[in-house]
Amino acid sequence: MGVSTAYYLATRKGLTCTLVERHEVAGAASGRAGGFLALDWNDSSPVGRLARKSYKLHQDLAQALGAEQIGYRPLETISLSAAAPRAPGGKGRPRLGAALPGWLDGGGVVATSKMGTHETTAQVHPRKLTLAMWAAAEALGAKMVRGVVRGLSVDGGSNVTGVEVEGVGTLDADAVVVALGPWSGQASTWLPRLPPVGGQKAHSALLRPAPGAGVTGTAVFTAYKDEEGRTREPEIYPRADGTVYVCGESSATRLPADPADITIDSEGTIGRILEVAGALSSCLRGAEVVAQSACYLPVTADGLPLIGRVPGVRGAFVGAGHSCWGILNGPATGLALAELIADGAVRSVDIAPFDPARGGHEFGAV
Ligand SMILES: Cc1cc2nc3c(=O)[nH]c(=O)nc-3n(C[C@H](O)[C@H](O)[C@H](O)COP(=O)(O)OP(=O)(O)OC[C@H]3O[C@@H](n4cnc5c(N)ncnc54)[C@H](O)[C@@H]3O)c2cc1C
Repeated sequence: MGVSTAYYLATRKGLTCTLVERHEVAGAASGRAGGFLALDWNDSSPVGRLARKSYKLHQDLAQALGAEQIGYRPLETISLSAAAPRAPGGKGRPRLGAALPGWLDGGGVVATSKMGTHETTAQVHPRKLTLAMWAAAEALGAKMVRGVVRGLSVDGGSNVTGVEVEGVGTLDADAVVVALGPWSGQASTWLPRLPPVGGQKAHSALLRPAPGAGVTGTAVFTAYKDEEGRTREPEIYPRADGTVYVCGESSATRLPADPADITIDSEGTIGRILEVAGALSSCLRGAEVVAQSACYLPVTADGLPLIGRVPGVRGAFVGAGHSCWGILNGPATGLALAELIADGAVRSVDIAPFDPARGGHEFGAV
């Protein structure tokens, strides 16, 4: 969210800003996510219009930054339910609502269905996208300061005047955007009326199947019943560069203060994700594991992101809490915040549902 705001401030508003980053740009979820995009999957929620706007902005970004450079491409998307050979319960005749690509040859198919077409689903490479947006903002004058934000300076009239960065000092500022992902909750000590934001851990692995494996550009949302009758639901995203990203198994695990301290459970959690991927596809079973990763989804109590002014301190803004749709909704969020900061109002999309002053923010209260 921080990079996206910097990008739209620079490219649309001619404003430069300073990005304060404690670890590295794209070093947390925004560099490790799946990068799956859906036009209309949020239509039944208040996020629907934001998602539609952002889906379109991703198409514009592919034009501006180069589709290949950011790993953008439209995808077919299917759901696939399958069961292990000795899984409890009858399987019956498979119900094939969508054609099964040849590389999903593991058998045990219970059902497939079509979830998206080239018009409604797409993907980006999140790390490449985030770095490309940052490079574009930097080229227009945005600056990065490495350090840990520890507080805000506020004058007697409750106006933001600066950001306190450990080991660096106070950076002057008349507008500050809290975009710390799952760590945004830390800012509630400086901004008491900032609603809580927490983190939910999820793991992923990047596989490289053998050349000629025939993996198609099809995103796959799975439901796999194992021999103990447990259902596992990893998501499989083949990428344009021939790798295949698989992720899943989210859990409520304590968020470390420093993104560099996030641990990866290779044997247990990633092992289970790979087991299902391998059961569904022989080319994934034998694939080289290029990378393993873990990161945290930024979550709010009511499941909606926080986008807008933080009540109580003039000049304080927030863009956080996008959960599993932060790559999709990052561009529309960054554009909205850039408009709010530069023009005092948002014209591109209605952000009223995401107003940090909306209430109902207690975890456990919803
Ligand atoms: C496994 C997984 C798969 C996902 N797949 C998808 C997907 O397919 N599609 C989709 O739309 N979304 C997906 N998401 C969600 C998406 O990745 C997130 O919603 C999004 O990246 C959050 O972006 P952010 O900028 O809010 O936070 P982050 O990307 O977490 O960035 C926060 C930044 O703040 C920095 N920071 C923290 N504290 C401080 C401090 N005190 N001072 C300075 N810097 C600080 C961190 O170092 C970090 O760089 C996925 C998430 C996960 C975990």
